[in-house]
Amino acid sequence: MKSLQCDCQHLLENVVGNKIVMNPLDPGEFRRQGHMVVDFLAKYYENIEKYPVLSQVEPGYLLKRLPSYAPQDEEPMEAILDDVHQHIFPGLTHWQSPNFFAYYQTNTSTAEILGEMLCAGFNVAGFNWVSSPATTELESLVMDWLGKMLDLPRPFLPFGNGGGVIEGNTSEAIICTLTAARDRVLRKLGHNSIAKLVVYGSDQTNCSFQKAARVVGIDLRNFRAIKTTRSTLFGLSPDSLEKAIRLDINAGLIPLYLCATVGTTSCAAVDPLEPLCKVASKFSMWIHVDAAYAGASCICPEYRKFINGVEFADSFSFNAHKWLLTPLDCCCLWVKDPNALVKSLSTEPEYLKNEATESKQVIDYADWQLSLSRRFRALKLWLVLRSHGVQNLRSHIRNHCRLAKLFEELVEEDPQFEVVFPINFALVCFRIRPSGVAGMSNGHADNEHGEAWKLNEVNRLNAQLLHAINASGRVFMSHTTVGGVYVLRFAVGATLVTEKHVIMAWKVVQEHANSLLSMPASEQHSA
Ligand code: PLP
Repeated sequence: MKSLQCDCQHLLENVVGNKIVMNPLDPGEFRRQGHMVVDFLAKYYENIEKYPVLSQVEPGYLLKRLPSYAPQDEEPMEAILDDVHQHIFPGLTHWQSPNFFAYYQTNTSTAEILGEMLCAGFNVAGFNWVSSPATTELESLVMDWLGKMLDLPRPFLPFGNGGGVIEGNTSEAIICTLTAARDRVLRKLGHNSIAKLVVYGSDQTNCSFQKAARVVGIDLRNFRAIKTTRSTLFGLSPDSLEKAIRLDINAGLIPLYLCATVGTTSCAAVDPLEPLCKVASKFSMWIHVDAAYAGASCICPEYRKFINGVEFADSFSFNAHKWLLTPLDCCCLWVKDPNALVKSLSTEPEYLKNEATESKQVIDYADWQLSLSRRFRALKLWLVLRSHGVQNLRSHIRNHCRLAKLFEELVEEDPQFEVVFPINFALVCFRIRPSGVAGMSNGHADNEHGEAWKLNEVNRLNAQLLHAINASGRVFMSHTTVGGVYVLRFAVGATLVTEKHVIMAWKVVQEHANSLLSMPASEQHSA
């Protein structure tokens, strides 16, 4: 024992002697370095348009530039920020650039960055009420505010016995609700029935649904991605759903869960909620509405119609981090029966027992999600809602929809192009028309290979166009294929975007299309 004490003493002296004692949270340094980072970011936003929107680096570029080992000694923030500028910037795709029109945006604002800063600054792990009461109570409050902004039906809100929670992302929201749905059925039928459970979406449902089904133990043969067609504008047809369900029941299977989407990832299609819910309800299925992208627009009364029918669903989620000026990660999920989540996701370890939980007067949000620890995400949402107010948030959404309309008009004025799907929100899917491609007149292939050849060629040319546009570094768009047709996706969503950027983006498209289309037919087809 004596020698141990001696060792410890020696160790302590060593630590002090070697200056390992440091203060990683010195308030003065925090202030100084914090200001430096804020200035760095402010300058970044001032200059953001100077950088190629889509990073132009080759795979592995960063490992060649940075050392292979962590430094032994401390390095000054000035040097680190310098390296961010020199080495990280080239490998950044600038999501906040006003010339970013790819995927769906994850837009940002001063309020959100500062909210994130407060969240990191307090750095609480509010898994249950007692671990940080404000974390829980502010979350319930902002979810209630937001639920009212979306005009969610009463059963989703606390005064209707429902409730909202902030998950990291939609994938988590689907895993949690699917787990609750699974357990609700298995509690009645026994665990052996898991192999009979079937889940339903469409071929346009986001891939996160398939992943969730896998995680939750649904047999992949029981995952239904029901085919959609142009006749329903790629929305899921209630008749097709009912047919699929009846076939499954006849085969001895058990319909479990429907994931309906408002604003699909590819082309922002909308599944008709009310008739779909009527079908699914006949079979006592859990209905989840995934409005990851488009949900934010429903704070505007004119877009609220897209979630009509949500009153018949069990759960609804949207990503505030996509279109509501809130940073990743912030998926807002409401459920009518929070107890269903709690029954599936709660654990009661001794080390977390406390009076508040036992009183049943509080929410322990860890029981509504996958992980135990949770960030104080409500802060950033609270800052965003308060700093902007509902009216400004509505204007933000409307402005993007207006700019998407402007782009649509520009496309339609050019006879070489077509808008492929009607736009619902702020996404325009467009392409070079078949008749614009050499070797085809009036959209028909005037050669012996026929329709399939035509479609392939048109798709290939449009893919080439997108490649050329993005390689220019001036704008960034993405693509999808729906019903075999390759389209370019122009999604308006950046906080800083204005008319000027939309018009410039269209000019970039036209310039590259003109140079492609002016090639002789033989070169077009072999390019
Ligand atoms: N659902 C839809 C409709 C989406 O568009 C997306 C992503 O764009 C997702 C789900 C996946 O969301 P997350 O990355 O939050 O899991």
